[in-house]
Amino acid sequence: MIVNYKRLLRCFDLMSGLSINFDKSNLISVNCEQGWVDQASGILGCKQAVLPVRYLGISLRANPCLVKTWKPIIDKVEEKLNLWKVKVLNKASKLVLIKSMLNSLPMYYLSLYKMSKAVADKLIGLQRRFLWCNEDGNYGIPLVKWELVQAPKKVGELGVGDAVLRNTALLFKWWWRFSKEDCLLWKKIVYSCYNINPNVMLAYQHLPWIWNFHWRKELFQWEMDLVHQLHERLRPVKLSTDRHDAIVWKFDKKGVFSTSSFLQVIQSEILVDEITSYSFTSAIWRSVVPPRVELFGWFVLVGRVNIMKRLSRLGVIPNSDNVCVLCKKEIESVQHLFLLCEVTWRVWCTWLRYFRTDWAVSGTIKGLFESWTGMHSRKQEQRKWLTGFFVVIWNIWWERNDRIFKIKEASVAKMQSRTILSYQEWTSSDPGEC
Ligand SMILES: [Zn+2]
Repeated sequence: MIVNYKRLLRCFDLMSGLSINFDKSNLISVNCEQGWVDQASGILGCKQAVLPVRYLGISLRANPCLVKTWKPIIDKVEEKLNLWKVKVLNKASKLVLIKSMLNSLPMYYLSLYKMSKAVADKLIGLQRRFLWCNEDGNYGIPLVKWELVQAPKKVGELGVGDAVLRNTALLFKWWWRFSKEDCLLWKKIVYSCYNINPNVMLAYQHLPWIWNFHWRKELFQWEMDLVHQLHERLRPVKLSTDRHDAIVWKFDKKGVFSTSSFLQVIQSEILVDEITSYSFTSAIWRSVVPPRVELFGWFVLVGRVNIMKRLSRLGVIPNSDNVCVLCKKEIESVQHLFLLCEVTWRVWCTWLRYFRTDWAVSGTIKGLFESWTGMHSRKQEQRKWLTGFFVVIWNIWWERNDRIFKIKEASVAKMQSRTILSYQEWTSSDPGEC
């Protein structure tokens, strides 16, 4: 029989011009006697190999539950997020790198295997270490929860994305293909392996319809709860006998499944209240200022900047050192430093004068941002005011760091002129211009 196979391959070679290099080919046997394998490999002139082997970058017959199966992916992430890069990259650049790394993970790996929790934890751990790492390579203080880093920018977060969700979306695509595509060999194999007959899922016993599910094993209690939820969901579904059945993905206008629409739905479902409470910050991502400034603005709005009050609460500095370096009177908190401090207030006033506006300012940074950015309907005006917001907070932070780390103090007039320079640098225009 092997001789016939070799003849077939030779015919294929002559007809297509694609010759097979037997020296580089392997014969992989499954449940065969060694004597037969030796003889067959001798006739073919190829080497012998045993499973698991690598094929198109995937380890065939490897156990996806084991961390070592995912080692190529973990190594790739580790290589991309190498710690030497933290010395030359700011947080905004690090986020870009983490996002690009997640997008470049081998999709075929994620679309074939379910990532185990241990692998997911390892991948997320590498991303967290990279983002929060200090310049000296030590793990720094995380400014926000990782869920906020992963959640989409559309709801005001950092939009890094979640490899686990992407994995689920890609695997779900198989369900879609299973239900939509006919006569596929793999589908027939699945049917026979699991003894599935899709026609017995529904039992019609006059009215109403009864869902008659068969499970491959005894269900655990938590699975029973899920089945109960499923029945609750299906109960209001009214089936009609005079129309053809069709499977439709209701989260897409055309009714066709896509991994991106799946991700959107799942992401919005799992958003916790804390994340949605920051949705007002989504207005920040307009690319009107450099990414590092935009990201800093976001940290200010969610109240997670390493100011004195936070550092003393975390025990990094003594309580006695938490006084604002601008006014030297009050405790340095986010609200104080960026809004309520008398020095900061004078800088905000410059900008109100520039924009020729009288305005009752809100007592919180969130209120300030919302009224500062929501005041205008014209797009051009909105961009101008948003830039104004960034130039003030960025320069306040700059001055505060100069005073702490460089023992250099600028006057309020100097700070005001610096904000104008930043505005001119970022927009190539003057704040007074319309
Ligand atoms: Zn102050």
